[in-house]
Amino acid sequence: PSSVEVYLQKHEVTATGGDVPAPFMTFEDTGFPPEILREIHVAGFTSPTPIQAQTWPIALQNRDIVAIAKTGSGKTLGYLIPAFVHLKRRRNNPQNGPTVLVLAPTRELATQIQDEALKFGRASRVSCTCLYGGAPKVHQLKELERGADIVVATPGRLNDILEMKRIDFRQVSLLVLDEADRMLDMGFEPQIRKIVNEIPPQRQTLMYTATWPKEVRKIAGDLLRNPVQVNIGNVDQ
Ligand code: ADP
Ligand code: MG
Repeated sequence: PSSVEVYLQKHEVTATGGDVPAPFMTFEDTGFPPEILREIHVAGFTSPTPIQAQTWPIALQNRDIVAIAKTGSGKTLGYLIPAFVHLKRRRNNPQNGPTVLVLAPTRELATQIQDEALKFGRASRVSCTCLYGGAPKVHQLKELERGADIVVATPGRLNDILEMKRIDFRQVSLLVLDEADRMLDMGFEPQIRKIVNEIPPQRQTLMYTATWPKEVRKIAGDLLRNPVQVNIGNVDQ
């Protein structure tokens, strides 16, 4: 067997959806810009995690992905680093609204994602702001007005701000649904659908989930276009 086959088997990686590119088994394989590789080096990481290795080359082809992998497998950088590359390709002005939108279930998770985006996007000069419930809107709206390449938001608060017409989605071309299963468990499906309805259809959508129940399959079927499905380990189908 080839080194790719050995890698996929060893890490229990399966990918379906046609013409799946080989995983990036090392950081050298990624061809990421030096300013991104520098931050990875500073963090002391030695190799991509399996979910990163298999989803990165697919994401760089601008394809939709459903990624199913357990907690702690490195999913956040799995989408943030392709998001940095996406931003570099688009070169939009963040004053005109975000280019990348990340939906996450809780305030805690959203702020963790923002921290990771600011840390690994520092040398790439990525701006990122966070919108979540349980805190006054005033400060969040002020930050949003300053402009951000990436907005990380919980669905309830983002939907409120959308209804107030205080966010412009016209530049959004990369949508990430993180912990999709948890967002649905928390009852956010109506807000997610309202939000996604306002995003231009010519977008890339990446969905991350730890489990794959029928509710998640249904929303994936509705929101993603010819996704490649990547599993790490045997998450029950
Ligand atoms: P998940 O979202 O799958 O639960 P996280 O994205 O939160 O996982 O990552 C878990 C931890 O692994 C974080 O502390 C993160 O910084 C770290 N991590 C991410 N990628 C790598 C890597 N390639 N090598 C080592 N550690 C990594
Ligand atoms: Mg996560």
